[in-house]
Amino acid sequence: MKANKVIYGNIYTVDKKNPVASALAISDGKFVYVGDEEGVKEYIGKDTEEIRYDKGIILPGFGEGHGHIAPGGTEALFFVHLNPMGTLQEHLEALKKFIEERPELDVIQGSGFIPTPDMGPNGPTADLLNGLTDKPIVLADIGHHSYWVNHAAMERLGIDRNTPDISDGIITRDDEGNPTGYFREGAMDLLKELTVFSVEQYKEGFLHYQEEYLAHGETLILDPIINWDTTDNAALACHELDMEGKLKMHVYAAYQVFQAAGHDTMAEIEHAASLREKTRGRMFELNNIKIQIDGTMPGTPSTAYMKQPYTDPWSVEHKHHGQLRFDMETLIKIYKKSHELGFTVHAHAIGDGALCMALDAIEKALEQTGPHDYRDAITHLQVVDRADIPRMAKLNVIASTDPHWFDFEPEYFEMMVAVLGEERAENQLPMKAFFDAGVTVTSASDYPVTNPAYPLTGIQKGVIRQLPGRPDTLHNAGERVTIEQMIEATTINEAYQLLCDDRLGSITVGKEADLVVLGDDITKCDPEHIQDSPVLGTMVGGEWAYRKEM
Ligand SMILES: [Zn+2]
Repeated sequence: MKANKVIYGNIYTVDKKNPVASALAISDGKFVYVGDEEGVKEYIGKDTEEIRYDKGIILPGFGEGHGHIAPGGTEALFFVHLNPMGTLQEHLEALKKFIEERPELDVIQGSGFIPTPDMGPNGPTADLLNGLTDKPIVLADIGHHSYWVNHAAMERLGIDRNTPDISDGIITRDDEGNPTGYFREGAMDLLKELTVFSVEQYKEGFLHYQEEYLAHGETLILDPIINWDTTDNAALACHELDMEGKLKMHVYAAYQVFQAAGHDTMAEIEHAASLREKTRGRMFELNNIKIQIDGTMPGTPSTAYMKQPYTDPWSVEHKHHGQLRFDMETLIKIYKKSHELGFTVHAHAIGDGALCMALDAIEKALEQTGPHDYRDAITHLQVVDRADIPRMAKLNVIASTDPHWFDFEPEYFEMMVAVLGEERAENQLPMKAFFDAGVTVTSASDYPVTNPAYPLTGIQKGVIRQLPGRPDTLHNAGERVTIEQMIEATTINEAYQLLCDDRLGSITVGKEADLVVLGDDITKCDPEHIQDSPVLGTMVGGEWAYRKEM
């Protein structure tokens, strides 16, 4: 067999049976040979393209274990971006400019503000947005935990003093009971109808993301909430791009299900299964169910669920551990049903209490269904009780870690100490402990929470856990991992998590030819400069999806 392409270089395959090579051959989009220069000769014919890299390193394409491209891609194109540190006046000026520049938009959406005292004692109000436009305005705060809207937005949806309160959120009201335009947590659902993007807009958003991240070596991603705006539009957009041959990255998706008023959890899992059948293709598959077991921290109050109470004065007084969004019975049912329908479950757990609960639920579900290979993942893993790590190994639960979060600016770390206490704060975000216990570890960024979120930056942060030259940002130094472990977490382990390691994730004969060519050998360079290595090319299925102009 003659190859379409033969590549020579310093090849690190991430295949334990054949870890290093100096030549590879590609035919019909797959690796047909991985070995030395002598052995590759028989694959070279008159039409074979030969490419040689004298320095740097060739790796399997990079994976992103948890990146929200549905909201991220569209926000980049269709949102006004408010500066979190900006004043009210600056926000209004940014809005005015955006409204003038984007007359085609029916709803003005934006994000990035932090509620400041100049917006009012009870958060920002619709009155502040008077006079800008007759169209609805919906602005998300920087963490997407509240919406600030104008009167047109509330009028379009019929929200007024008669709108009932919400069990899991807050509608801010004036003395007469009229909503003031500030909607928190579960109350944000009231506005969702205005924040929906069309299939066309999602397609543009995905292509925007794809172009940027292919240039950084990314070839595989999990979007953990494909129904971000509660519609199927983002999944349908991926499917259309796949059918049109425009999806150049392997995209896997998770469908988020809820347990709250108005939600039928089991019916949502069934809907995900039918959407999976409707949208499955060569480059796109919805094969995960997402559950958000707890909330986040620090906050007032913090909502991540802890085994031990928080340490800030209010939490001490109220013995506050955080908040759960599911009860145990429902969690067990979710795992069982998801497994029966062939889904893997991707669970958000920031606190050690939420992690423990997920493991209990998986254990109970497996008792009912018998052992099987669904590779459930738990993500974020910010506060972890070491006693639970061997349980993850035993249950074959994947640790989807966030190396992008490992370094802390001192002011932010102080906020963590205030709610967690010194010891829990210092021991946050383990990674090495998972490897040591034999847990499969993957790497994720939570884009656009981390933005930008380039794979080489994640790899560097896993290795050094601090900002370059900034030892004051280093914590839990014993949890630094090796460059080889970070490469594994970013390639083959991502493929394992997404159940596609039989065809992706390593440079192995028979697998699809996805690879990234780096200008520097990141296994040998100064770890503080891993992220500076130029990406010379990214190949997907044997074709260049990105090539740096030389
Ligand atoms: Zn997320």
